[in-house]
Amino acid sequence: MARTYTIETFGCQMNFHDSERMAGLLEAAGYARVDDATLADVIVLNTCSVRERAEEKLFSRLGEVRADRPDAPALVAVTGCVAQQEGGAILKRAGSVDVVVGTQAMRRLPELLEEAATSGTRQVDVNPYDDVSFPLGMAVRGDPVKAYVSIVEGCNDFCAFCVVPYTRGHERMRPATEITREVEEAVSTGRREIHLLGQIVNHYQDPDDARCDFAGLLERVQRIGGVERIRFASPHPRHVTPRMITAMRDLSCVCRHLHLPVQSGSTRILTAMRRRHTRGEYLGLVAQIRAAIPDIALSTDIIVGFPGETSADFEETLSLVKQIEYHSMFSFKYSERPATMSSKRLLDTVSEAEKTRRIVTLQELQREIQLRLNEQAVGTCATVLADARSRRRDDELSGRTSGNTVVNFPGNPEWLGRMVDVAVQKAGPHSLWGVPA
Ligand code: SF4
Repeated sequence: MARTYTIETFGCQMNFHDSERMAGLLEAAGYARVDDATLADVIVLNTCSVRERAEEKLFSRLGEVRADRPDAPALVAVTGCVAQQEGGAILKRAGSVDVVVGTQAMRRLPELLEEAATSGTRQVDVNPYDDVSFPLGMAVRGDPVKAYVSIVEGCNDFCAFCVVPYTRGHERMRPATEITREVEEAVSTGRREIHLLGQIVNHYQDPDDARCDFAGLLERVQRIGGVERIRFASPHPRHVTPRMITAMRDLSCVCRHLHLPVQSGSTRILTAMRRRHTRGEYLGLVAQIRAAIPDIALSTDIIVGFPGETSADFEETLSLVKQIEYHSMFSFKYSERPATMSSKRLLDTVSEAEKTRRIVTLQELQREIQLRLNEQAVGTCATVLADARSRRRDDELSGRTSGNTVVNFPGNPEWLGRMVDVAVQKAGPHSLWGVPA
């Protein structure tokens, strides 16, 4: 009987895609997937350390894993950013862990599991590897409609609050030929929406062709037959070029949505964060993008309570959010992440209570804005890529507009993967509801 595995994923799209890749590696090595961890011979915990308490979550999950199978313990592998950061320290703290694999050593997972099983010794590999290639067609894609395709790995920017350059290593680009082959393979297996992934996705430069920058890559992906939509995450404002804006405007498959992390509305705090753009530059960029693509929907990331953030700085964040009117937002309370510049050099000056007050204020404002923007869609017809069954009702489907707004509507599961025109009848702060037009 085949050995079995399960993977539990925490964190971002990049981690989700890494899990798809690890699933492919394990299946190529003869493992079969099971959803129930208590039935698995191998349990992989793919971790994230971008937010606080990731480690506590990991160790509490490791305790549960051990309690689930006291007599016949599964082999347990910890992968991802916490693995990269903590390395062998995880083995000391958790007796149930057999293998620790860093973010750049993922391809060695089956080999290290084999070694741990046959020798009975615990294995750790958190070494850096420059090779960012991955065997074509091996990832086991978890989404029938969307395909994640990594184009850049790692980051050289070292924003003061961010752990990514330490956990994902320095920036490495995949050749465009490899990327387009992967997109072709994804399309040939039914995927319609391509999500290009990178820590600074728009810093992309083909290592083999000086003429192919991020805009050039968008053009190449658009030319692949069967691609209906292209999305990407996450761009950095300082790498949004006029060429990129023109490509977004002119390429019909590129969605009318741009996630443009701002982090703060105060230039003083942006400087402390080492973001390398000012409030004025960011607002100027938004004006440029909107002049070229008037129907673009913008979203962002904001951190409140960064060290030194005063009430006046926070008011600047609120005024920027009011001015831009984002369609959606991810907001976080600042927390010190290990090894980051802000944790080493700056005092965490804003109290927890004040951080909470600020994030509640920001989220209330954003909720009002989102509701207002969504209400403007009532009475219009939205073209939606049906990508899932609705979470709320069995007879409903869910999809997203080009601008990335969620739309729920009654529909047949056979429509999954198709573009559906939906007459929008109701709006809430987080989604729209309508009927097929
Ligand atoms: S650009 Fe800044 S926030 Fe984004 S991954 Fe790099 S260091 Fe982190």
